[in-house]
Amino acid sequence: MRIVLVGPPGAGKGTQAVRLAEKLRIPHISTGDLFRANISRQTELGKLAKSYMDAGNLVPDEVTIGMAKDRMEQPDAANGFLLDGFPRNVAQAEALDRLLQEENIRLDAVLDLEAPEDEVVKRIAGRRICRNDSSHVFHVTYNASREEGVCDVCGGELYQRDDDSEDTVRKRLEVYHSQTEPIIDYYKAQGLVVTISSMGPVDEVTQRALGALKREDAAR
Ligand SMILES: [Zn+2]
Repeated sequence: MRIVLVGPPGAGKGTQAVRLAEKLRIPHISTGDLFRANISRQTELGKLAKSYMDAGNLVPDEVTIGMAKDRMEQPDAANGFLLDGFPRNVAQAEALDRLLQEENIRLDAVLDLEAPEDEVVKRIAGRRICRNDSSHVFHVTYNASREEGVCDVCGGELYQRDDDSEDTVRKRLEVYHSQTEPIIDYYKAQGLVVTISSMGPVDEVTQRALGALKREDAAR
């Protein structure tokens, strides 16, 4: 299956992307990974992206699109892929359509992870990360450490990343509403959008997503 995953920050998109890609046996293509890989391999696109990032500017769509194209042409993506973080605006969605048309393939579904705004803010702003290891993640409400501010795993100090402050989250949500949400309407016009709630335990959300994708696939 060829899937685009969309959802606001805090909907657990990254987590679900990894799990869904594994279950569906397709590569998970995230823009974050694409940027890191291209920059560390010092590809032309990577160098270009880095020059924008170093100057504190947004990487232009053409650069992101180029990286996504290269990645989708790898052999492991021949039978499908799950795109995460791309497309992030209508211009990128149109570019993706053109790329797929050139290859004579099409998307099967756009999975829209829905999350109420207040819940998203609560989820992100409550996140606490260990200074020793960023994979030690807690949440003041949903996954509290035994002792406040102290990592259960290694005893390190827990802190809130700047990105996770309520103000930053609200700003990221605004960007999502204005830039990314319009692609949902864009894909609705193509009959591709499958919307599921991202509320509840991670496993349940994965099962919900797989069920919805299976029904969508069967309906084709
Ligand atoms: Zn720790």
